[in-house]
Amino acid sequence: MSERGAPGWRLWPSRWVAPGVEVACMGDPRTDIAEWDSVWLDARLATLDPAVAGELGVIEDGAIGVRDGRITWVGRRRALPGQLPDTVDVHECGNAWLTPGLIDCHTHLVYGGERAAEFGMRLEGASYEAIARAGGGILSTVRATRESSGDELLAAARDRLRPLLREGVTTIEIKSGYGLDTETESRMLRVARQIGQLDPVTVSTSFLGAHALPPEYAGRADAYIDLVCEEMLPAVAGEGLADCVDAFCERIAFSPEQTARVFDRAIELDLPVRLHADQLSDGGGAALAARYNALSADHVEYAAEAGIVALARAGTVAVLLPGAFYFLRETRVPPVARFRHHGVPMALASDHNPGSSPARSLVLMINMGCVLFGLTPAEAIAGVTRNAARALGLDGRSGPPAGVLAAGARADFVLWPIDAPVELAYGIGGLAATRVVRGGIAAGAADT
Ligand SMILES: [Zn+2]
Repeated sequence: MSERGAPGWRLWPSRWVAPGVEVACMGDPRTDIAEWDSVWLDARLATLDPAVAGELGVIEDGAIGVRDGRITWVGRRRALPGQLPDTVDVHECGNAWLTPGLIDCHTHLVYGGERAAEFGMRLEGASYEAIARAGGGILSTVRATRESSGDELLAAARDRLRPLLREGVTTIEIKSGYGLDTETESRMLRVARQIGQLDPVTVSTSFLGAHALPPEYAGRADAYIDLVCEEMLPAVAGEGLADCVDAFCERIAFSPEQTARVFDRAIELDLPVRLHADQLSDGGGAALAARYNALSADHVEYAAEAGIVALARAGTVAVLLPGAFYFLRETRVPPVARFRHHGVPMALASDHNPGSSPARSLVLMINMGCVLFGLTPAEAIAGVTRNAARALGLDGRSGPPAGVLAAGARADFVLWPIDAPVELAYGIGGLAATRVVRGGIAAGAADT
């Protein structure tokens, strides 16, 4: 947060644009183009920029100028000179749809072991809560994670990441929370940071020490929260391993009072917070998250009206996780109509984790967000781009924004083999990006 207001950054999207203006530009493209590194032409842009008309901010016959890894200009092709300078790398998009890079804003990608056997048990009748109370479930992942080396955790997580990269994910949030001791929590977060150095993806980390009670603290939850606040949090903050602090506030995890202690410590250490809230019951988690100006409140199936109003006031994003809802065969749908009514921004994420959402597709979450939760395709697409960025604090408040095609934003974008944006929500699996560009550099998939 310390960079907020640094010179050169504007607070996005609070800028004023005249009605009917449908370009988001900075400077004069006719003169500035000689300075650009690359230009992407002949694309249909779903900019997700609120300054551009329409829910998706579509610019037909669009073009994007890139310089130093950022988008330097977005607008119509006809605003550019007919003859482009030789120094600029020109990419013809063949009238393809182009969106911001996808952002998976809630994952537990780094962990040891797998839980397919438990899935089998559950199908034979054991509930998620019953498995947790019996010391199984999450604690089996804790054991396996503690026993894994950093290299083993890294190799497994990179493997899980691959399908997400293929479908255009350019930013991912990764939580700790399966170590539950200082050494393993730090190891998980170091692995998450390494992923951001090795793979073409920006990684945002969340420290989730208050995820579950480790076995050695059974019956002593307050003492464990002491450890989280006095040892773990200062350690990970001191090493710069956490971008945010998360907690699991639920009757099978930590109480609102215990969660508040963790958040108080996070604020002291200048770290923003987010919360697993109201997933299995209404525990007042949404209101608690709002009280701490949390970046996001996640799950929120049981969020009550007062909590929803509080989220709207705080500008906290409701992160909806249809993968866990589906996998746990939950029946309580998050209050999407109330979020919409009060103007709570909604994001969608995979919640990739071994116990309740072994999802390896964010595009599938777009479909599930629409089919299971009743989002519109435009809401769902905003949920994995603009609003997901906001849920990670990547909306321009402390650096170049992500999740939007606008001048000044990160040059992260995806070309798709679709004829209309609704196709991103339509298919049940199987849609891969044609081309993924991150920081202005095309990665992975074949050229168009
Ligand atoms: Zn989660």
